[in-house]
Amino acid sequence: MKYPILQMNNEQELEVKKFNQNEKIHLETINCIICKSANYKILYTNDRYGINQQTVMCNSCGFVYSNPRMSEESLDYFYSSNLYREVYEATNDFEHDFSERIRKVEKNIKINEPNFNKYYPQLFLDFICSLNIDYKTVCEIGCGYGTNLLFFKNIGKEVYGVEPSKTSVKIAIDNQIYIKQGFVNDLENKYDLIVLKHIFEHLYNPLKDLEKIRFHTNKYLFIEVPGNFRRIASIQNAHNFYFTENTLHKIVTKAGFNIISTEHCKETEFIFALYEKTKEKNINFEYSYLNEIKKIKNIYRYDNIRYAITSILKSIGLYSLLLPLRKKILKILNF
Ligand SMILES: [Zn+2]
Repeated sequence: MKYPILQMNNEQELEVKKFNQNEKIHLETINCIICKSANYKILYTNDRYGINQQTVMCNSCGFVYSNPRMSEESLDYFYSSNLYREVYEATNDFEHDFSERIRKVEKNIKINEPNFNKYYPQLFLDFICSLNIDYKTVCEIGCGYGTNLLFFKNIGKEVYGVEPSKTSVKIAIDNQIYIKQGFVNDLENKYDLIVLKHIFEHLYNPLKDLEKIRFHTNKYLFIEVPGNFRRIASIQNAHNFYFTENTLHKIVTKAGFNIISTEHCKETEFIFALYEKTKEKNINFEYSYLNEIKKIKNIYRYDNIRYAITSILKSIGLYSLLLPLRKKILKILNF
């Protein structure tokens, strides 16, 4: 199936075209990282930008992942490419004014009961605080400008961070948040809580990285990732994996962590999970592979019906007029 492509400007479209034809990009085939199976069903052949990237579902355990995917070397090239800057950074909220963000964080730092009905920037902190865990030091991997770390700093925690982008590190340091340029492999000390916020789905080898992370955490690990609940998370070639709570827990617990609490935001379908480091490795979290496959097939079907209706309404120029009708049609079709 073709995945619906976002509206982009001419320059972005050109970058995507160049990227698709780039001979420096090498793809590699991988087996499912949960069950090792090489047997999969193709879900989509492109991502939301039109990049030729295949997304598949494992036929044995239901895990959704990119396959074949960019080699480790090609991934490095991709993250430093014009395409990444032009397409990804322009459509993310990367360019928001940082001092404005700091002001907001400082002004609004009051811990509330987490509300998972709607997404808000402090939701992760409200979630962690609601669990009454004891921690002093926090390290965020892939911390960007350090905005998330500010929340922790403002409730009295000692904060640290690693971030691959030199530009982000410089901005953070200019704003008195001392983070280091680097990534998982550059961790040096041990921290009470390690934070991975919208990073885990990008990792090339999550199990290997979790091993390193486990070594550097005294107690806890917090992960926030896009989830598949009523729909499959937005397809983009920077994401190597598309998790449900089952597949996320399966991978993280395998690396020597216990689940303390897990929730998801109804609006964005992001998963919030707090784990505790265990003494022994290989804690076995089990889920029904058959039910997982059934669930993914259902939401895949639902997504495609939704995309087809949207595309028909758009092609006849009646999209905004008939949008309420689309909801009714979906309801009649029992989704
Ligand atoms: Zn599998």
